[in-house]
Amino acid sequence: MKPIALEHAAIKAEGLMRAGDPGLQITAVHFDTRQLAEGSLFIALTGVARDGHDFLLQAAEQGAVAAVISDEHKVPQGLPQGFGLILVNDTVRAFQKLAAGYRREQSIPHIAVTGSIGKTTVKDIIAHVLESHFPVYKTYKNLNNHLGVPYSLLQIEEQHKAAVLELGMNHAGEIDLIASLAKPEISVITYIGDSHMEYFGSREKIALAKAELLPHTSPDGLVLLNGDSEYLRMIAHLYPGKVAYYSVEGPADIWAEEIRSDEDGMHFTVCFATGERFAAFLPLYGVHSVLNALPAIAIAKRHGMSDTQIADALATVKLSAMRFEQVNSTHGALYISDAYNASPTSMEAAIGTFADLFPARQKVLVLADMFELGPDSDQMHAQVGAYADALRDRFSMLVTVGESSRHISDAYTGNKLHVATKEEAVAALLPLRDANHAFLFKASRGMELWTVITDLERQP
Ligand code: ATP
Ligand code: MG
Repeated sequence: MKPIALEHAAIKAEGLMRAGDPGLQITAVHFDTRQLAEGSLFIALTGVARDGHDFLLQAAEQGAVAAVISDEHKVPQGLPQGFGLILVNDTVRAFQKLAAGYRREQSIPHIAVTGSIGKTTVKDIIAHVLESHFPVYKTYKNLNNHLGVPYSLLQIEEQHKAAVLELGMNHAGEIDLIASLAKPEISVITYIGDSHMEYFGSREKIALAKAELLPHTSPDGLVLLNGDSEYLRMIAHLYPGKVAYYSVEGPADIWAEEIRSDEDGMHFTVCFATGERFAAFLPLYGVHSVLNALPAIAIAKRHGMSDTQIADALATVKLSAMRFEQVNSTHGALYISDAYNASPTSMEAAIGTFADLFPARQKVLVLADMFELGPDSDQMHAQVGAYADALRDRFSMLVTVGESSRHISDAYTGNKLHVATKEEAVAALLPLRDANHAFLFKASRGMELWTVITDLERQP
């Protein structure tokens, strides 16, 4: 973060200066004492489990020079001389206002990415491509909520020439709030899917919640929408500026064609409505990965990068762990770990991608429960089973783990095994752990399906 004076922090946070020198320099803002460095402003969040006010002395010991508080009676004796205090009514809101104020002083482009699926992937690819050209800040991991977004905004340094921010949501109104802090120049909406169906009830309602991003996007900026999602076409009129569609299904403002895969990744031709085209390679698997790369290409071009520069950057993309990550076993087996998260859409994309890969190996699907799908959960699991069933000649076995995934198994007519626990899955898979086999692991994060891989590897 670019240093700011305590007084300016108080103004941005809309709080009262209760102690400290107004000119005191703040060089970082944190609500987690583990992250505090010398010169930090500590935000005393009051959660259900913990109260940040109880950590004020510890924060000071760890380098905090000031704090944002909401209760002066909770300020302990013994804070260092000159320790700054800013009093507010609500420390979460103050943190958000501080971040919004800090952001308003930055003139670099902010790029916001939201959507039901693919946010982190798209954010990482955009940042990777732009980073080959100039320094970029990107959301760390998945810090995409009402605390993660202000945190990210306050991490942006003077050296950064662009910021790529992931915006997430579980409920209506959340994107409205965090987008009002981020105020992006460019917004990307990746997909309207079935995650959070439990809360919203329909995809139209999910689309409306994502559309909250559009009024906060600068009107002379750009909104990039996945043109293959009909629900995104429904909301496009809510943005007064330029909307561009990207697609892997056919002509759009930017689209990919001649898509083919090999063991290294995806080869395709990038096409623009202007008639320009160039060949690209992406070291990721699946047509959906090509789709996820298109916003990065459009944004890089807007920032003046040449086709060659863009193609070179795409060729070195690497994603975070557990997103269709290839893990080589010491016993010769090949594991594809996509256990980071799952929804019916991403489950089908992963199964379809896996079906096309590793033709020389016997392929085993290891699928477990998907959470938060609402009242149609059983049927959505069955739909995934039917999808896999249509490709069953490509797989030697389906192993399902958990409760809901029984419905995946029931819809599958090939060789299969359903087990209740991961321990049983490990026992069943152990004899297959050799160079003839490849495994796909996919489930909701809560299933912690990656432990099956670690347990398989741990066995002698
Ligand atoms: P979260 O809400 O957990 O932050 P996210 O929106 O950031 O999720 P990612 O982490 O990028 O999404 O991807 C989640 C899963 O969806 C991964 O398994 C990924 O491979 C898969 N996936 C990503 N993009 C697509 C897509 N366009 N279509 C289908 N599946 C996808
Ligand atoms: Mg994410």
